[in-house]
Amino acid sequence: MTVRALTLVGDRKLELIEAPAPPPPAAGEVQIAVKAVALNHLDLWGFRGMAFAKRKLPVVVGVEAAGEIAAVGDGVSRFKRGDRVVMYGALTCGSCKACREGRDNLCENVGGIMGFHIDGFARDRLNMAERLVIPVPAGVSLRDAACAPIGFSTVEHMLFDNAKLVAGETILVHAGGSGIGTAAIKMAKAIGCTVITTVGDDDKAAKAKALGADHVINYRRDRFETITRKLTNKKGVDVVFEHVGGEGFNGSLLVLKRGGRLVTCGATAGATITFNLMQLFQQQYKIFGSFGASMRNIRDGLAKMAAGLTPVIDSELPIAEFESALRRLESRHVFGKIIIGF
Ligand SMILES: [Zn+2]
Repeated sequence: MTVRALTLVGDRKLELIEAPAPPPPAAGEVQIAVKAVALNHLDLWGFRGMAFAKRKLPVVVGVEAAGEIAAVGDGVSRFKRGDRVVMYGALTCGSCKACREGRDNLCENVGGIMGFHIDGFARDRLNMAERLVIPVPAGVSLRDAACAPIGFSTVEHMLFDNAKLVAGETILVHAGGSGIGTAAIKMAKAIGCTVITTVGDDDKAAKAKALGADHVINYRRDRFETITRKLTNKKGVDVVFEHVGGEGFNGSLLVLKRGGRLVTCGATAGATITFNLMQLFQQQYKIFGSFGASMRNIRDGLAKMAAGLTPVIDSELPIAEFESALRRLESRHVFGKIIIGF
């Protein structure tokens, strides 16, 4: 028996191979039939090749996914065949202080990020430890659930664990058409925040408005700093949701009100900047770096989906189009998440 596995064999070189099927799941493991993989910028980093990444090719790609339990090993109590699930995307140890406290993304002995350092989810079947598997609530499609382990949970962690966004606050969401940008707009609106967002074209501006954003700025036409300060009567926003970096980062600091919080999980426009430390402490800014999420964040994201706060899906494509989908993500011609069906 073999399974299909989409494998990165070199920088920007993917091959769909026939790999040996996994053995029956061991004690404490479940076997998962993957049904949907959602794309992330992490896939792009992996696809392009990163000089600093400690990993060996070939590696099966796919960093977040949903599927069905195909078999269970001895001692597995929480799942049975046919259950719909998502998987935590990093091999945490489950026993260090961070893991015991539920801060899974700060695991001290993490064995790598799946689909990036080690084999990921873009394959028909894989075995995983039961403790890293999370049930999908009734009423949530596997297509939507596939956006929970990274997309939705990253936003949960950024907005609520790190920036501690609360009702009534004003937030600037950068790149409101991206997978995490669309989720951030919906989650912030759902708790009663005022949302200002930036997009790169008028088509995306209309779509961001339709998601509930109160103000949409086309950053190619207008300076977001100027408009945001105008919209907030020069006071600035409570929170900036950053994942772009580069030149815009200083603008993001500029539009924070005194004591405001900036949370970031990305640097698609550039990883190195300079900023003014005087401004940082005088304005009493709080800057949070955020990477990944906890198992709890994934469960909370799925619960939101079950309650109707669903992810924005750009498109659903077959596995043969994984690479062209990555290129589309790279070109930023997407609004929401790209899903690869199995
Ligand atoms: Zn750990």
